[in-house]
Amino acid sequence: MYVPTFPRQVSSHEISIVFRSHSIIQASKLKITLAETLKPLVPVEDLQFGQTMTDHMMVATYDPINGWSAPEIKPYGPLTLDPASSCFQYCPNVFEGMKAYMGPDGKARLFRPQLNMARMEMSAARVALPLFNSSALLTLIKKLVAIERRWIPTAKGCSLYIRPTIIGTRAALGVAASDHATLYILCSPTGPYFRSPPPSLSLPTQKPNKTVSLLAVSENVRSWPGGTGGFKLGLNYAPGFAVQKVAAEKGYAQVLWLLPEVGEGGKVEMKVTEAGAMNFFVVVKRDDGGMDVITPPLDGTILPGLTRASVLSLCRAHTSSPSSSPSLPSLPPSLNLHIHERPLTMTQLLSYSSSGTLLEAFGVGTAVIVAPIGKIGYQEEGKVGETVIELPVWESEGGLGVVGEALWERIVGIQEGRVEWEGWSVVCE
Ligand SMILES: *Cc1c(COP(=O)(O)O)cnc(C)c1O
Repeated sequence: MYVPTFPRQVSSHEISIVFRSHSIIQASKLKITLAETLKPLVPVEDLQFGQTMTDHMMVATYDPINGWSAPEIKPYGPLTLDPASSCFQYCPNVFEGMKAYMGPDGKARLFRPQLNMARMEMSAARVALPLFNSSALLTLIKKLVAIERRWIPTAKGCSLYIRPTIIGTRAALGVAASDHATLYILCSPTGPYFRSPPPSLSLPTQKPNKTVSLLAVSENVRSWPGGTGGFKLGLNYAPGFAVQKVAAEKGYAQVLWLLPEVGEGGKVEMKVTEAGAMNFFVVVKRDDGGMDVITPPLDGTILPGLTRASVLSLCRAHTSSPSSSPSLPSLPPSLNLHIHERPLTMTQLLSYSSSGTLLEAFGVGTAVIVAPIGKIGYQEEGKVGETVIELPVWESEGGLGVVGEALWERIVGIQEGRVEWEGWSVVCE
């Protein structure tokens, strides 16, 4: 029997996974109907994240009698759904975000896709959607990428974003698990998210502001202990949109999500969780010449990002690997990075900032890879007006500090197949 394996960090004790034979998607039964006319490609400098869709999509449906249908790759277009479908009412909707990268050798690659597949199984189980063999889903993703390969931008830092999605389609209003589902995969070419466009494409405009500003928010929370913040569920995001608008009106690009926690002596501490839909890191100067790299732990309130996991292992390897094969070649080998997955509070952030030891803050995720944070606005209890934490300004091309820039370079190198690292990059054949 097929036994799904999950990332270590996700607690699964309360989720029972009943895997039956009709949970199997048969990739070998794939039906391919190609589009008769292909869309014109969009120049990479005009790409806005997630706005342009490619020519095709993959679709498979599940019903409790027949299990998963034969998957189909067909021209991109609308789905037809019963308006009572549970995805419109109770939101049993799961998604993943991954990318295909074109290497200088002309091969398309995925980055650690097994981790996306394992997370998608966990998310589906959390909202009681039908299960599936994710190895077959990965085969289908590779097939779709092969068909859409002309859409993968070749410029450095550009890629084809892939959005596997499962929605509950039980057509009845009873509040119950959806025993019907539609699984589909969309592809969308993307430029470098917050980065300036690649140097080969000279634009008439001046450089955009490269750093991200964050408004720290605690009245509305993104996730909470025992909640769903550790899963990639559609229902986690809409509750953040109104707050995001407030942040935008105040001139901030994203929200820094806080979670109040009663600490010692009954004092309420604001724990930092994530920035927008990115995992959050800070780099703090130490007295011994090294640096602390800090990110909150996977306690169920943090999305277990695979960029986060990759950043942590590259940083750990930097300090343990021999200087002949450094994991982060652009950092001095003598620089010791001390990695901490531990709670981080606003009190601590403010104190790092006021003591001048806060060197870098960045958000990480598949879409952005590593995005520099320039300032954080925070309404402190009992104070009039926002306190603003200003991060040091770095003159690097992407606006990142030394650690963030070294990570960006290295991860992009691995993704594009220019660097081999622990089998992270998987060729689509
Ligand atoms: C997707 C996502 C991330 C980043 O995860 P990656 O696997 O690195 O792309 C971080 N936080 C949230 C809330 C997310 O939805």
